Formats: sequence, structure tokens, C-alpha cells
Amino acid sequence: MKPKDTEFQPIPGMKTARFAGMPTFMRLPHLELDSPRAAKTDIGIVGVPFDGGTSNRPGPRHGPRQLRDLSTMIRTTHPRSGVNPFALVNCADLGDAPVNPIDLMQSLDLITGFYNEMSDKGIVPLSAGGDHLISYPILRALGREGAVGMIHFDAHTDMNDAYFGDSKYTHGTPFRRAIEQGLLDPERTIQIGIRGVKYETSDFDWALDQGVRIVEIEELFERGVPSVMEEAREIVGGGETYVSFDIDGIDPSFAPGTGTPEIGGFTSFQAQQMVRALDGLNLIGADLVEVSPPFDPSGGTAWVGVSIMFELLCVLATAQNARACS
Ligand code: MN
Ligand code: MN
Repeated sequence: MKPKDTEFQPIPGMKTARFAGMPTFMRLPHLELDSPRAAKTDIGIVGVPFDGGTSNRPGPRHGPRQLRDLSTMIRTTHPRSGVNPFALVNCADLGDAPVNPIDLMQSLDLITGFYNEMSDKGIVPLSAGGDHLISYPILRALGREGAVGMIHFDAHTDMNDAYFGDSKYTHGTPFRRAIEQGLLDPERTIQIGIRGVKYETSDFDWALDQGVRIVEIEELFERGVPSVMEEAREIVGGGETYVSFDIDGIDPSFAPGTGTPEIGGFTSFQAQQMVRALDGLNLIGADLVEVSPPFDPSGGTAWVGVSIMFELLCVLATAQNARACS
């Protein structure tokens, strides 16, 4: 373990009250990506305030702000593993990726450009969406030198082909595009929690044909979390693996503030258990998407979201620390 860098610590909650001051992700220092200090960052927490891929109820463009606000309640040390990610690696809030809210294709390029710059600096991204389309421009950066694996928590496959005729870039299509473009290895991809009334079945059929493993919610409940996560670990193996977490994977009784809720989901505790089971994998980035503040007036869904982000941060930090020490 490397000595902790005091420049990269969250503001202590016992020094400044957690409701005071300006909200950054987990009270970390905010750094501009092109600043000299940013180059020392190991894990960059980034907002992607874009929901131009949303086909029905919008709002996740406002996610990063509300997630930052609620994240000020996060403390430093994981209750089960004892991991303090801020002691393991340098974490910082790198602000929001640039977007153009009235130009979808330009936004995808702007987002990819930002993540390419992070990759060039060796920074592992933990992203806060944004709708689920944002995972696609992120994967264009992370998968640029070869397809990566993915563990994907969601009620939906997001493997559709096109919406409203031939619109190919929506929050229901990111992973189909990523597989088609060689960014994602379908045989190292598993989707967990899938459910809900379908338009039709072609998204499932296409994904299964590519070799994607789909664990529908019934199977998750029948087999239980440990068995499914053991299989997930086998599927991604030791290769580079991305984690994408759609808040609508969690049952809407815990996380109603999202555009496309589906009843019959896993609990917030099962979500924690599943993310904890990623410890030791070769994780190269993660995202938490689809929190929609207009549908989340209490902030309760954003709180679930940042709690999952902390779980993701802990497993990313141990992965990054293991790479640094090897
Ligand atoms: Mn999704
Ligand atoms: Mn979804």
C-alpha cells in the first residue's frame, strides 16, 4: 500500500459539518482535468449531465448535482471490508464531462474526448449519470485498445437496435453499439436483474446470439446472490472489466426516482452484496446511471445511488491499488 496523499482527502466530517460548504463528490477536492494535480489522481469521480438518450421520462441530466449533494453524507470506511478508498488511492472530483444538451452526437464525442484524456493520464473513472447512453461514449475510451468485459446491473438489457425508426443512439441501445463496435466483449458480459414488460424480444435474442449472459430477476432470486456473483466472476475472469449500474435495477420501492422503473427488482442490500462480490476483479471503471432528480424530490433515490457509488469506489480502489503494487 502506498502512503496516502494528504492532498486527496475528503474534508473530515468532524472538522466541517457534512451539510456545510460546497458539495463535491464525497467531499473530495475538485480538480480540473488539465491541472497538474489531476495527473496524480488514481480514481476520478466524474458527472455526466446528459439525458439526450432518454426516450420517455427525462431528468438524469440533473443527476450529477443531486448525487454530489447527497454524497456529502458518505463517510470514509466500508462497514464490512474496512476499506478506506481514500487511504488506498488518490481520489478526486474531476467535475462534469462536457456535453451539448441539444446535440446528441456531438455530446458523445465530447464525453469520449474527456474520458480519453482521463485514460491518457491513467485515471480510472467512476461516473455519475446521466442516462444509460453515457456508458457508450465512456466505453469508446476504455475499450479503444480492445474489447473489455462488463458486469451490468439493470432491469433492462439496453441491447435494442434502434428507436423511432433508425435512431441508433438512445439509453436503450448503448451496449448493442458497444458490442458492434468491438468495445465490449459479449462473451465476457453478464447482465443481472433483467425484467419488465418488453416491446418485443429481439434485444434478448440478439444479445444471447452474441454470447452475452443474461440473468433475469427470477433466476437471481431462485439461485441467490452468492451463486450468481460467482458465475459473474468466472465470466469476466482476470481481464479488464467495466461495471455499469442502472439504478432501475433496484426495486422501485427503494429507488423510485428514475425514468423507467420496473417492479419486482432486487433490494438495496442485495445491490450492496453484489457490488461487494466484485472485490478482487480487474476493474477499470464503473458508472451509476439513471437517477432522475425531477422524479426524486426527497433525494432518497440519489442517496441509494451515492451509497452504491461508494461501494463501487471501494472495489475500484482495491483493484487500482493491486495494479499499482504488482
Ligand atoms: Mn439501463
Ligand atoms: Mn434500466
